Amino acid sequence: MKRVTPALLVFDCDGVLVDSEPIASRVLAETLTELGFSLTPRQAIDRYTGISLPAVLAQVAAEWGRALPTDFAARLRDRQAFAAELQAMAGAAAMLAGLALPKCVASSGKLDKIRGNLALTGLLPYFAAHLFSAEMVARGKPAPDLFLLAAERMAVSPARCLVIEDSIAGVQAARAAGMRVVGFTGGAHMRSGDAEALLAAGASAVFSRMHDLPRLLDGQARSRRHTRLVGRPCAATAGA
Ligand SMILES: [Mg+2]
Repeated sequence: MKRVTPALLVFDCDGVLVDSEPIASRVLAETLTELGFSLTPRQAIDRYTGISLPAVLAQVAAEWGRALPTDFAARLRDRQAFAAELQAMAGAAAMLAGLALPKCVASSGKLDKIRGNLALTGLLPYFAAHLFSAEMVARGKPAPDLFLLAAERMAVSPARCLVIEDSIAGVQAARAAGMRVVGFTGGAHMRSGDAEALLAAGASAVFSRMHDLPRLLDGQARSRRHTRLVGRPCAATAGA
């Protein structure tokens, strides 16, 4: 792939900008288990990370063979302890402040959740109104629709976009959209082997510390070998 400096950075939100996946997966697992669909937080992460809530609930209903209560999504939202626990990803604010490139957010979450979580963690000013939600498109990740919408609205061709993602579904969506994508492995939900899985899904590089992203962007324009080494997760992939 020809290496050019990206004209637009497209950030996933959950698990990249905000460290929300452990909270979301715990609440989902607890709420489903109480209903009779037994699920651990780890299973919730493994099965549903990066996928929109409506798609998750459709998968659960299909697997379970019964419909979920109509107020299930509202019940989940009520229980999510985001306001008390949610943190920005370590180093995200400083990294965003130092990036001169245009940037936006493309997330599987609902628009009001994306905006609320970014506001809560102090990251919203870095993106202004450039927020794109799966509820704006027909098909969520791993389909390319959301990333293509973001590129179109930001008036940048997909080939000039670079996506930052933590999930397999997100990496697949970026590649399907014809975009380059790098994997972020610094979230609390990530574990050994996840970096390799993101690379296998099509990420051109992985990194685990937000302050390594600018260096990695330089590397994207130089050589594949170099970028694979920058920010390589240490503890997360040691021995994997
Ligand atoms: Mg994510």
